[in-house]
Amino acid sequence: MLCLHDSIRHDDPVVQRLLRAVEDAPSLTAMILAAWQVARVLTVHLVEAVLAERAHRPLAWPRCPQCGGCLRSKGFATRQVMSLFGPIQWRRRVGRCPHGCAIPQVAPLDETLGIQPQQRTSGELQQLGCALAVFVPFATAARLLGWYNGRTVSPQAVWGWVQAAGQRAMETLQDHLQALAHGDLPAPEALAADLAAAPLVLGADGVMVPFRPTGGQPTGKTRWQEVKVGVLARLRQHRTRTGTVVTRLHHRRLVAVLGSVDALQPRLWLEAVRQGIRQAPQVVWLSDGARGLWRLYEERLAAYAVGILDFYHAAQYLWKGAAAWLDGRTTQARRWCGWARHRLRHGQPDGVLADLVEALEVEGLPDSARDTLLALYAYLDRHRDHIDYAQYKDLGLPIGSGMVESACKWLIQQRFKGVGMRWSEDGFNHLLHLRLAWVNGRFEALFGLALSPNL
Ligand SMILES: [Zn+2]
Repeated sequence: MLCLHDSIRHDDPVVQRLLRAVEDAPSLTAMILAAWQVARVLTVHLVEAVLAERAHRPLAWPRCPQCGGCLRSKGFATRQVMSLFGPIQWRRRVGRCPHGCAIPQVAPLDETLGIQPQQRTSGELQQLGCALAVFVPFATAARLLGWYNGRTVSPQAVWGWVQAAGQRAMETLQDHLQALAHGDLPAPEALAADLAAAPLVLGADGVMVPFRPTGGQPTGKTRWQEVKVGVLARLRQHRTRTGTVVTRLHHRRLVAVLGSVDALQPRLWLEAVRQGIRQAPQVVWLSDGARGLWRLYEERLAAYAVGILDFYHAAQYLWKGAAAWLDGRTTQARRWCGWARHRLRHGQPDGVLADLVEALEVEGLPDSARDTLLALYAYLDRHRDHIDYAQYKDLGLPIGSGMVESACKWLIQQRFKGVGMRWSEDGFNHLLHLRLAWVNGRFEALFGLALSPNL
């Protein structure tokens, strides 16, 4: 192994100048930043020295993909990639077919190092750029990266890395979905014992995202499209400092698709199997009244999960009924609504339904009020099995879907709905899948290496 001392190159005037800048630094911050420049140059020297040494090792030439003849060295050629610490250059052997086949030149060392022929930036720079782009706009991500490598990084470059990595994430997902469709179930994700014993909650919501007009032109009317988001998490109760017990989502996993509930369904099911829907002691589906999502529940999840209709959504519906029936301004409407809400909350929906039947029989009820009451009756009747709130409370389960919906909104809201933002479908999908990889703890795997310093 090379001695670090060899790569310091005290005689290198660049290093001398950088070392002097550390000595002359007027403040601690300036000193640290100046020392960082030295570290950067040393990193590049060290890497280049190791690369130079490897380039001279003997190598086995691969065969020509066209004629099968053994490739032959054409001598050394220079290669450069931009790294997190600045440009890195090395000279390595390149080969061609001795029979003159029209194949691109081959550099076995680059292949061993995991570098693609057209690649101009190294993996760790792309990974950090993509990680930043998961949270901040491309221009901001490019500027922050510039702080690290001391060069100008263009927002377009970051955008390009996101497209490539997002594409990989989407292809992996497609493979998993295909395997699932063939009955090949994924392995459940490993969980700490206390989390594995906690209830698993599932929910979904739709969030609107602004897209460019059809065709992708930058000008023209914004097209709003709905993205379906699903969340899967373990429920745990916490006692706050004031002594209140609150339920929180743990081990949050998200799925999302720019498309219909039908497109969401296999994604949600894939993740549900990973999150142990088949093993969890208690599984809950929490949702407001959206019909498509309840259909998904019935078709795919009902065999495993208890369905809970968001109590606050139901209460709102009760008020709509009361207002139509008894005129919203009267105390009578308020009183009935309060009573019905209390009944519902304490597990006696039958009384509420009976009241509605009675109200519908009253002569002279205006048609509009009748329609509203009929709709309310049908709604409660349809969800008869999902409104046993007293029992859910006894089981320690939440009766509101608010935290599920805000987890869904966060995925989209935080990054895709900034002022003036409009997306192309491809651009959106690529970044969405990187964001999903990030929140689901699969980001590093996507790049095949961990940037964390303890590795
Ligand atoms: Zn050949």
